[in-house]
Amino acid sequence: MVRPSGCSRSIPDGFSPDLPQAVHSRTGFPRSLHLQPVEPPVNSLFMAKLYFHYSTMNAGKSTILLQASHNYRERGMETFLLTARFDTRAGEGRIASRIGIGETASTFTAEDDLFSIIANRLEKGPVACIFLDEAQFLTKDQVWQLARAVDDLGVPVMAYGLRVDFRGELFPGSAALLALADEMREVRTICHCGKKATMVVRKGADGKALKDGAQVQIGGNETYESLCRRHWREAVGDTPS
Ligand SMILES: [Zn+2]
Repeated sequence: MVRPSGCSRSIPDGFSPDLPQAVHSRTGFPRSLHLQPVEPPVNSLFMAKLYFHYSTMNAGKSTILLQASHNYRERGMETFLLTARFDTRAGEGRIASRIGIGETASTFTAEDDLFSIIANRLEKGPVACIFLDEAQFLTKDQVWQLARAVDDLGVPVMAYGLRVDFRGELFPGSAALLALADEMREVRTICHCGKKATMVVRKGADGKALKDGAQVQIGGNETYESLCRRHWREAVGDTPS
């Protein structure tokens, strides 16, 4: 029997991973430092939510995920970290950010039942929040498994992932999360022109933008650049006729 975590509840403001907004306007200290202890709600099953934090490449979503998880842990609450696995090695993976921080994480493939993975983890002890990186690689079924974990096990799930691929098309996991998540937040970054970047180009070894290819490419020599839609169109040769 899996019991809902006692810490499960909607995320208080102070735990918002939107770091720039988490600073108190008068003191400049993180707002979380001003939080008073909150009693767990009577029925936490109705409070947990499925969150989708979406962005383009290199916006710092893994950094924000790791900071949000750290905010729980420094208050003595457990978190459970999951990330996608692409090779055949089972077990531990790692969520790493480009600014040099990282944490070990459990891994999932497209074949895994995430409801069972989360239920098994909760049987070992309470978890305040599940953090899942590379959510774009979830299948539609797995997004439903996360939704059931939120609804039936009462644990909040925060999924972080890319919205669109280099062709400008939704990833399947992101499409399902956009449909099913209770709350969505955009992790923003900017194009070289200063506008918000919402698109990504995949560049070959010659530096030119690629228009075709597999949605998921592991271990190639390609690089990625996040751009606003206008500069993405320019990069892939979509100019006014
Ligand atoms: Zn631009």
